[in-house]
Amino acid sequence: MTTVTKTEDAPAPTGPEGFLSVRDLSVRFATEDGVVKAVDGLSFDVERGRTLGIVGESGSGKSVTNLTILGLHNPRTTTIDGEIVLDGKELVTATEREMEQLRGNKVAMIFQDPLTALSPYYTVGRQIAEPFIKHTGASKKEGWARAVEMLGKVGIPNPEQRAKDYPHQFSGGMRQRAMIAMALVCDPDLLIADEPTTALDVTVQAQILDLLKDLQQEFGSAIVFITHDLGVIADMADDILVMYAGSAVERGSVDEVLRAPRHPYTWGLLNSMPRLDSDLSAQLSPIPGTPPSLLNPPTGCRFHPRCTFQDRVGGNRCATERPLLAPDRSSACHLTAEQKRTIFIDEIKPRLG
Ligand code: SF4
Repeated sequence: MTTVTKTEDAPAPTGPEGFLSVRDLSVRFATEDGVVKAVDGLSFDVERGRTLGIVGESGSGKSVTNLTILGLHNPRTTTIDGEIVLDGKELVTATEREMEQLRGNKVAMIFQDPLTALSPYYTVGRQIAEPFIKHTGASKKEGWARAVEMLGKVGIPNPEQRAKDYPHQFSGGMRQRAMIAMALVCDPDLLIADEPTTALDVTVQAQILDLLKDLQQEFGSAIVFITHDLGVIADMADDILVMYAGSAVERGSVDEVLRAPRHPYTWGLLNSMPRLDSDLSAQLSPIPGTPPSLLNPPTGCRFHPRCTFQDRVGGNRCATERPLLAPDRSSACHLTAEQKRTIFIDEIKPRLG
């Protein structure tokens, strides 16, 4: 039997709700093997003009959360509980028609692989123009002009000509820029970017990240940026949400979480990251074990089967009592605030260099 407790450094929820406000979100999928609890009790806020980086291993629930915000799950096999409020509009209970109005208009998504978002059969210009025409009622001519303008904004040279090309005539980096142009064509209030630079080489990755930052300044959108790469998060995000096995385990500003992380899982992620300034012979320290099955997640703290600090908590608490996260800066862990501080300073930080 698992009980649920707020951790000692988790004060009661405070502050105004964000432009995007997710509260106690649970997403469950019915499969042949049973019910997968993909997201469980997740809460966070994102303000306009800010970027929230969501980080975690595969299967942590990052992408499921964002597909849920976009209303892209099969309603016959998915059960969603909790609240997602975007600019005052509740999305969990919205109809498919209402979500269609929001997608590509108020909310847009950039995927890891632009070829999944761009059709090979239509010109790039037409595909950028289409959502603009659909959501604004613009003419085809106006839509085309807007597509050319957006291709110029995302740094495609000679946009009048390149708008007539098909996706296969673009390089990988140019396709990613075209997908960003398509996502931003209606000036969305919320942009969800799911590993948008993972498939690109580092130079193009840096260019795309700079482009997203510039466009955010221009458009003032809120961005939810999903990645497994803490280096990218450090560059892009204002705030970080660390997810593990369907739940948030740590949240705070980038500065707070990267300078003084408080959760053993975040320590593990930082420890397993290669560093440019480290000795080339230095061994990375991967987190022991593998993420749990979400068909039957561990009792208590979901990280406990992999956590090397549970003996510091004492008793059987980590295996039986589930720590939760409050909506402001905190970590979902039974270690005391003092233990987290001293373990990080004495044992973790020296290893990070
Ligand atoms: Fe979870 Fe316990 Fe480890 Fe904290 S110390 S992360 S509560 S297993």
